[in-house]
Amino acid sequence: MAAAAIPLLEIEQVPAPAEPHKDASALTTVDGVTIDPREVAAQLEGLSAQDTIAWAIETFHPRLRFAASFQKTSSVTVDIVSKLVGDPNFFYLDTDVLFEETYTTRDALAARYGIEFQRFAGISLEEQAQLYGDSLWARQPDACCGIRKVEPMREALAGVDCWVSGIRREDSQTRAGAAKFGWDKRFGLWKLNPLADWNESDVWDYINEHEIPYNPLHDGGYPSIGCTHCTRPPGAGGDSRSGRWVDAHKTECGLHG
Ligand code: SF4
Repeated sequence: MAAAAIPLLEIEQVPAPAEPHKDASALTTVDGVTIDPREVAAQLEGLSAQDTIAWAIETFHPRLRFAASFQKTSSVTVDIVSKLVGDPNFFYLDTDVLFEETYTTRDALAARYGIEFQRFAGISLEEQAQLYGDSLWARQPDACCGIRKVEPMREALAGVDCWVSGIRREDSQTRAGAAKFGWDKRFGLWKLNPLADWNESDVWDYINEHEIPYNPLHDGGYPSIGCTHCTRPPGAGGDSRSGRWVDAHKTECGLHG
């Protein structure tokens, strides 16, 4: 008997956000404060990461969420945020195929700072295989990221006004123009990138100075760490993210549009 056909899944099939997208240039009022995104981005450009995050906490908390990937920038963000606010809303996306070292880093940071990282996840790996076949990440990585990252991200960001990422302009060409603040069209809320202008030395100097737990895979040749199936040490001459999805024409998981 012929095997049942496995349906193709397109990332566009992931449900659209409930809220219509706003114009990125629109003025928006939050708790009586009017935000002009271009003006704010320009002002934040000259501020430290600490002052940038402090502004976001003052403006948006508690409708503000901090994403944690448990890479080196998460270590920095957790330390800064924990010194600024007592009840930070941290979350992470558990794809169920993260490295063991990533989970131990989560636990080490949680213990050190006394915080909880709220977990968001998509359907189980078993259900994904039943619906779309084995190893979707190898055949349709955009669809796999849509299920395991983008859709849980929508859930994580529901009901908040701003989220905070750890991306840096130095990460890759696709991130070189990242503003410190702007409207996130994909998820329909504000996005803050307080470490956008940090370089590699800035990150490690901060981690070492404050003796913060960090993902040990960074010491094993992984400058960028995602899922086990899609992360390799980068080749010679590649940027820090060139070890991600090495067998696919893909540079982002769909969280940073
Ligand atoms: S990084 Fe790979 S395994 Fe992880 S969600 Fe994306 S395609 Fe799937």
